[in-house]
Amino acid sequence: MTQARELVRVPAPDTDASGTAPVAGPLLQVGGVTLQYKTPDHLVTATYRVSFDIYPAERFVILGPSGCGKSTLLKAIAGFINPVEGKILLKGRPVTGPGPDRMMVFQEFDQLLPWKTVIQNVMFPMRENGVPRAEARARAHDAVRRVGLAEFVDVYPHMLSGGMKQRCAIARAMAMKPDVLLMDEPYGSLDALTRRRMQDELLQLWDDIRFTLIFVTHSIEEAVIVGSRIAVLSPHPGQVRAELNSPGFAHDARAGLAFQNLVNHISGMLFGDDSNHTSR
Ligand code: ADP
Repeated sequence: MTQARELVRVPAPDTDASGTAPVAGPLLQVGGVTLQYKTPDHLVTATYRVSFDIYPAERFVILGPSGCGKSTLLKAIAGFINPVEGKILLKGRPVTGPGPDRMMVFQEFDQLLPWKTVIQNVMFPMRENGVPRAEARARAHDAVRRVGLAEFVDVYPHMLSGGMKQRCAIARAMAMKPDVLLMDEPYGSLDALTRRRMQDELLQLWDDIRFTLIFVTHSIEEAVIVGSRIAVLSPHPGQVRAELNSPGFAHDARAGLAFQNLVNHISGMLFGDDSNHTSR
């Protein structure tokens, strides 16, 4: 297992190791993005001049303390909020609003439509976006099977556990075949054991499909487990403090020294010391 390396503004590669074949450029570019909320009384700056590039099939984690602007950043990438400064480009084109190329999974368990079954929930956005019924059904069944809900296709959300609802929300997003899957603290409301299982399932799903993921969390351990690259944001207003690679940790490596060292290193960055302040 390789040791974690810190990446500070590594320039985008434009050729492969042989120096000839072009390497795919960034899928998503966030450049100098400042995000603000205007309230009747004051202006809240959520992020200040945040920049990073995300490449295809990366598992990119945005990590930082509560209130540092992680969710706001994700909403801007989703197209719900416009930057007051800077640019967000997807495949080189400016993000100007929400689109089916960026599907979001939230923390809340009530993101499914309660009057629709699992399969109907998963089919819904595809049907809304003009996917023919037969194709939508086939894609929905495939997505539901991948997240382990094949036996629950005709079940309504109120009969599902929290973890199963999140699996359904993930299947619904993935069935749309988005360019990027956006996840905003998706496991924040789950108990520790379910959360750990869901993290492993997400990694398994990524192994199967190799999608591009942007995952927001305030948990250092979760960031290190889920991410292949981690942007560490400073406290409010959020600025990128560092970008790090995570080598990927198999289940039994998470008790090991390399894992703890990386967690402690990030903890030191966030809290100004090297003690283990993991926020779970
Ligand atoms: P995080 O996801 O890192 O916890 P948020 O993106 O939710 O942080 O919030 C960043 C900052 O923006 C915080 O100071 C928060 O209070 C503020 N904020 C978030 N949403 C709103 C809103 N709708 N109106 C005004 N301020 C907001």
